[in-house]
Amino acid sequence: MFLMAGPCGVESRDQAFRIAEFVQRQGATHFRGGAFKGQNRPIVNGKPEYLGLGEEGVEILAKVQDEFKIPCVCDVQSKEQAYLVAKYNIKIMMVGARNMDNLCLLRDIRYLYDKYNPSGQIILKRGPSATVDEWIGAAEHLGGEDRVVLCERGISSFDRTPQTRWRLDFVGVAHVKKYTNYRIIVDPSHGSGDRELVSLLSKAALAISDGIMVEVHYDPDSSPTDPKQTIDFDTFKEIARIYKEGIYGRK
Ligand code: PEP
Ligand code: MN
Repeated sequence: MFLMAGPCGVESRDQAFRIAEFVQRQGATHFRGGAFKGQNRPIVNGKPEYLGLGEEGVEILAKVQDEFKIPCVCDVQSKEQAYLVAKYNIKIMMVGARNMDNLCLLRDIRYLYDKYNPSGQIILKRGPSATVDEWIGAAEHLGGEDRVVLCERGISSFDRTPQTRWRLDFVGVAHVKKYTNYRIIVDPSHGSGDRELVSLLSKAALAISDGIMVEVHYDPDSSPTDPKQTIDFDTFKEIARIYKEGIYGRK
């Protein structure tokens, strides 16, 4: 089972270390943190979108791995970023939802793993408009079920309720579990866009999947990206307890 946790984006060494130290103490199996961010619009509130720390962020993740001996997860959106993440030996590359269909990128990452890291793992998020079948097709481009951990992060739907960004497809998750050998995790942070829902959705996800990935920050409102869906330390502590004890409590 996976319990992946960390901020949406790496902001500084201190921020990453403080969050990594906390989530690891609660039992997180992986630390997540984006070095290459981006937003849905190039100008946000009159300012250029926040793009993350880039290479400096990757370097900080490498230090987190070194210091805490916890594998880190970093999202990559281009071949150049993938090479950088490989160069710093970040354990897990993640292909974000918007790149699931980017077959060129998938082939480049596959080449990198085949050549330098054949037993390494890749997280492949589901594109918001992709069918389960298209998602699995993309996973095959990366090398298939031995290498890829699928991550359901919500899909588009007719329901445009403004407070919730996407719809988590638990039927798709159940289908993958029942009919394939892929490992599959759920991201209730991006899946809902609402930190108040993350705990309940984590419980649901832990009942049917191989784990969860959540965005955590000691001061969620200060996150430059995805503040509304980022949970605080107390909420993560409770989710980690549920992860350890099972959704119905210790058996
Ligand atoms: C992320 O997890 O950092 C991310 C960008 O999510 P998604 O690709 O699901 O939007
Ligand atoms: Mn995010």
